[in-house]
Amino acid sequence: MNELSNDILSALKDIVGETGWQAPPDDLTRYTKDWRGIVPGVTSLVVKPANTDEVAAVLAHCNAHGIAVVPQGGHTGMCGAATPDAEGRQIVLSLERMRKIIEIDAAGSTMTVEAGVVLADIQQAAAEAGRLFPLSLGAQGSCQIGGNLSTNAGGVGVLRYGPARSLCLGLEVALADGRIWNGLKKLRKDNTGYDLKQLFIGAEGTLGVITRAVLKLFPPVRQSATAWVAIAGPQAALDLLNAAQVAFGERLTAFEIMPDIAIQPVLQVVPGTRHPLGRAEPWMALIELTGPTPGDDLAEALEAFFGEQLEAGLVSDGALARSEQDRADFWAIREHVAEGEQSYGGSTKHDTSVPVADIPAFIDEASKRVRAYMPEARITAFGHMGDGNIHYNVIRPEDLSFEEFYEHVPEINRIVHDCVAEFGGSMSAEHGLGQIKKAEHARYAPAHELEMQKALKALFDPNGILNPGKLF
Ligand SMILES: Cc1cc2nc3c(=O)[nH]c(=O)nc-3n(C[C@H](O)[C@H](O)[C@H](O)COP(=O)(O)OP(=O)(O)OC[C@H]3O[C@@H](n4cnc5c(N)ncnc54)[C@H](O)[C@@H]3O)c2cc1C
Repeated sequence: MNELSNDILSALKDIVGETGWQAPPDDLTRYTKDWRGIVPGVTSLVVKPANTDEVAAVLAHCNAHGIAVVPQGGHTGMCGAATPDAEGRQIVLSLERMRKIIEIDAAGSTMTVEAGVVLADIQQAAAEAGRLFPLSLGAQGSCQIGGNLSTNAGGVGVLRYGPARSLCLGLEVALADGRIWNGLKKLRKDNTGYDLKQLFIGAEGTLGVITRAVLKLFPPVRQSATAWVAIAGPQAALDLLNAAQVAFGERLTAFEIMPDIAIQPVLQVVPGTRHPLGRAEPWMALIELTGPTPGDDLAEALEAFFGEQLEAGLVSDGALARSEQDRADFWAIREHVAEGEQSYGGSTKHDTSVPVADIPAFIDEASKRVRAYMPEARITAFGHMGDGNIHYNVIRPEDLSFEEFYEHVPEINRIVHDCVAEFGGSMSAEHGLGQIKKAEHARYAPAHELEMQKALKALFDPNGILNPGKLF
């Protein structure tokens, strides 16, 4: 990639206008430091286009001059995918000014938005129109829909609604050379060749910049029932998940598990949180049913179900949300687990997925191997049990400094990822690869799979200007 000359910088600033860019000496930390703070970068320019034409013009100029562009949404990604590198030659293209909700088509149950709209604003707009946009994750107050689509975000509603990929009907994308691909369709069926939008979804900004999207809306949730239960461990969680799926079908919307080590720091660092059971339990599950019909008494059904599970011994204690506030309090704990973990002062995170039925065996085996290597390691395995997606994180032992622990991280990652591979799993279920996981991925992916992916990259971005250093 080329140097950013003064001429190029001026031309890019002219494209986006006076209010559309920032450069040093402004404080650019929020654009250059990833959420986890482990791969901070440097940039000489952040451009903030106001519309698709400006995005396209920025790309055309960068493509002509060999300038690397890092697309950026809310910058909440976990893998350093939206962060420029340390050399300072990559510009950041932030979508933050493209935050219009263009249309809500209630009859067709779609919403058309610009890529920079914050996820929580999309949820809110859908609710105000009497619909539901079900993508839901801890970072929803700051992540953007363009980032959600580019990472194929998962979150807590995947069990019922699928990931971001299944919530998108159409896209508009600015291509590396400045052309605009208009795939902004509302169609639910379209078999005219390759489904190009799916290539851009999950591509982490390496194939094009998503500028607009058509999203699927769903009937609103008219009632929900939420429970926080104590379980013996992952095997009990699996049995309980199966029982709940049989009992409730698609009304089972979320099934999350958490060990006590994931909960305790949340209770300490997040003001207003309290343990739903009033005391520590080794493992817990957060379970939610939702339905569009006010008449169903989901709370009663869930209570009866847990009565049966108590007798069967799958559950040892539990609390049902009795109010919207209780429900929000339960979810607040789950949603702050990642933040709580930060207070342990160092961990290595693994965004694993394995076949759902193998989760207990996987957690058991990976933990045996990690403890054989580092007996004092603290292990937290939490997350989206219903999707087979466990965040299997290893926390710094108390007697090691941050630096000492990080010397062991590559070996710990290898142990966990080898185990994932043996279970036929994925080492990135929902966070992507970014900078942090690309080398590990390359170790496990078949060579011809990487070749096909690189061939696609070369087709869409022959000069390699889009988010270089990510994925490969
Ligand atoms: C507390 C917390 C909880 C989280 N929980 C979850 C969870 O449950 N499930 C989950 O999946 N993730 C979760 N995440 C991770 C993160 O929120 C998601 O990956 C999210 O989808 C990223 O969106 P973003 O707008 O912040 O994207 P960014 O971090 O800004 O970017 C992510 C990637 O998308 C690219 N990109 C961004 N916008 C565009 C665009 N318009 N066009 C092309 N490329 C673009 C970037 O280049 C980068 O490669 C969590 C993060 C935090 C901090």
